[in-house]
Amino acid sequence: MPLTVVTGGTRGIGAAVAARLAAEGHDLVLGHRSDTESAAATVASVREAGVRCVSVAGDLTTDEGIEALLSAADELGPLTGLVNNAGATYRFAPLAETPADEVRRTIEVNLTAPILLARAALQRLDRGGVIVNITSGAATIGSPGEYVHYAAAKAGLDLLTRGLGLEVADRGIRVVAVAPGLIATELHATTGDPGRVDRMAPQIPLGRAGQPAEIADAVAWLMSEAASYVTATTLRVAGGR
Ligand code: NDP
Repeated sequence: MPLTVVTGGTRGIGAAVAARLAAEGHDLVLGHRSDTESAAATVASVREAGVRCVSVAGDLTTDEGIEALLSAADELGPLTGLVNNAGATYRFAPLAETPADEVRRTIEVNLTAPILLARAALQRLDRGGVIVNITSGAATIGSPGEYVHYAAAKAGLDLLTRGLGLEVADRGIRVVAVAPGLIATELHATTGDPGRVDRMAPQIPLGRAGQPAEIADAVAWLMSEAASYVTATTLRVAGGR
């Protein structure tokens, strides 16, 4: 039975990934920061698929947060996969108007935390293990006027995917990334622009925002044996953007 850790696995894209992986028979450890209501609801619905599932609250920008997540996985059995999905944007603003501590937090949650989680996962994964990093179309667009530091962090995560994928290829472990485009989740409203998805959707070549389930399908494929020859690369799922 595969055992996968999904960070930020209780809401938005992460919850869709959890539902999809549960349908494929993965036992799951779902990380989140503080929204216990979403966590309880997602765990309950995932368990309906007949797999084991626990949620772990903790801030992944701390060593304790990372340790708590991996310890929970160690209790369930040998780890087979990690989905580095948790991320945050905090505010839309030009860099000069973004507080320095927020820039640091953005880099820590979107880049440092997934690197340290990958490190901890690699101390546990065997041949056949898979790490999927959720990056962003922002990594190539650059997101001027919105959050260039977030885009830079996601570009770093794409390069981490490349380098680490090559580093562990001879262990039979795959490291891949999915770069979502504009996806309809609460992230835009919590960052301060609830109308962003509707406003930007017409600019997407496919004419609409993506749904979390469309990212989850890509993640599930990359984690499956069907993608056994895919590593050290990023799959963009962005409606052509
Ligand atoms: P949401 O805001 O809907 O959910 C974010 C999840 O991450 C929540 O479960 C949240 O926990 C968790 N989280 C946030 N910060 C921390 C932290 N410091 N420690 C632990 N957990 C944390 O985001 P989305 O589903 O929209 O985004 C998921 C990923 O996809 C992110 O990496 C994002 O950058 C990326 N992405 C999203 C796009 C979009 O358009 N939505 C586009 C491109 C990339 P809690 O519920 O407790 O708050």
